[in-house]
Amino acid sequence: MATAVTIQPKPGRLFIGGKWVDAVTGKTFPTINPATGEVLTQIAEGGEADADLAVQAARRAFDSGPWPEMSAADRAKILWRIGDLIDKYNEELGTLETLDNGKPLFESRQIDMPMVAEVFRYYAGWATKIHGETVPVRGPFLNYTLREPLGVVAAIVPWNFPLLLASWKVAPALAAGNTVVLKPASWTPLTALRFAEICQEAGLPDGVVNVITGPGGVLGKALVRHPGVDKIAITGETRTGQEILRDSAGTLKRVTLELGGKSPNVVFADADLDAAVRGATVGIFYGKGEVCAAGSRLFVERRIHDDFMQKLVDRARKLQPGDPLDPKTRFGAIVSERQMETVLGYIEKGKAEGAQLVAGGERAQVNGRGFYVQPTVFDGVRNDMTIAREEIFGPVLATITFDDIEEAVREANNTPYGLAAAVWTRDVAKAHRVARRLKAGTVWINTYNNYDPAAPFGGYKMSGYGRELGVHALEHYTQVKSVWVNLKD
Ligand code: NAD
Repeated sequence: MATAVTIQPKPGRLFIGGKWVDAVTGKTFPTINPATGEVLTQIAEGGEADADLAVQAARRAFDSGPWPEMSAADRAKILWRIGDLIDKYNEELGTLETLDNGKPLFESRQIDMPMVAEVFRYYAGWATKIHGETVPVRGPFLNYTLREPLGVVAAIVPWNFPLLLASWKVAPALAAGNTVVLKPASWTPLTALRFAEICQEAGLPDGVVNVITGPGGVLGKALVRHPGVDKIAITGETRTGQEILRDSAGTLKRVTLELGGKSPNVVFADADLDAAVRGATVGIFYGKGEVCAAGSRLFVERRIHDDFMQKLVDRARKLQPGDPLDPKTRFGAIVSERQMETVLGYIEKGKAEGAQLVAGGERAQVNGRGFYVQPTVFDGVRNDMTIAREEIFGPVLATITFDDIEEAVREANNTPYGLAAAVWTRDVAKAHRVARRLKAGTVWINTYNNYDPAAPFGGYKMSGYGRELGVHALEHYTQVKSVWVNLKD
């Protein structure tokens, strides 16, 4: 049953220097509800000139505005207020995220938005704890360090967790005293625009957070090349990260990269099988598989293969796509028609390369419309098949069978990516041994997809570098100045 839409998204304009403005060219583009295929609203299509205006506003706010001069305690209060306002507007923000991205309301209201609020409150706590040190140098000198903000941060975010991944960048940037230009993905700009209003309501000075929308290849590129930007924080595809590194080289910007993944989920025969089946399902089907850390390669020990796969397939078949606005739905619409076609293309490739399709595999519709793909499981996959090598970014699981620990670890690590991994076993020592050997920024033991504002998150290998969340993120939003004082008479 279709659920009535209670939120009417406003036409999207650009938020620059505390004011709402149209793109310089006056151009707009539509943002589409993937659950219905209908246009939600028009969004301003920013270009190079708009990037420049936003950077100038952020630059002014950093170089001469009240923000960097404000006491850390006052900055903390504003960050805390942003967190509380995110909670206050949970229903509205969650609905906007669901309309734009197709994820179920259950996820956007009960998981994404509460974590956004927590991230702001977590970094509110840090604002007053960022400080330098005194250093025991030789001679009659005092040496101390100042930990200073970088300046203007460009936060470039993808469409899978639009406001959540924005918060991972904006909150630590602000806690450290930087100013920000936020660029959401073109498929999902609505919550970032509403967030701009929330920043203003929380008392953030004009120009400290600017939100601009437009194509990554034009607007994002302009930010990356702009000499007024000091740091780029990007979450996106690995090839986008590579392009950003090349484009930022001319101005030698600091860059942190949160990129793609092809994460192994390794189930040993001595695991709690029911828990591992739940973990494998959540690992690949949560967020429709549009999750950078999705457990998209499932390694199952041969001895339990048949039992395990039977349970897994039963579970996958029960999980049917539903209207994302229905609070009972647990599996929503793929973010766009193009992404749906990409996912279906990989499913065809899996079949063509000889993998065995054991669940799903088809496009689905809900109420006769929308861009949905059934939860899909392949068995009999080899690690060198395309569906085991490339990030699909959709609900497609590649199951690979293994015989012993050595093979499991070797094949789990046999990927250019290294974002996350999981291991399932009742043997504590084995779990920790394998966790050490897995080349990934996050390893889950007997669980999957846990996140917390205090726990660092980021990639090994081609999944990027730098860490988001936790104390580790602050390192990437500050720089250290060494000050020498002559103490001689
Ligand atoms: P994308 O790389 O296409 O776009 C990400 C953002 O970068 C968008 O805002 C886009 O407009 C912008 N962009 C694109 N080209 C650019 C350029 N040349 N210069 C500057 N900006 C540019 O990624 P997506 O399709 O939006 O998101 C999916 C990808 O994000 C997947 O690969 C996924 O694994 C990755 N991801 C990673 C993490 C992580 O933490 N490691 C988390 C979520 C998603």
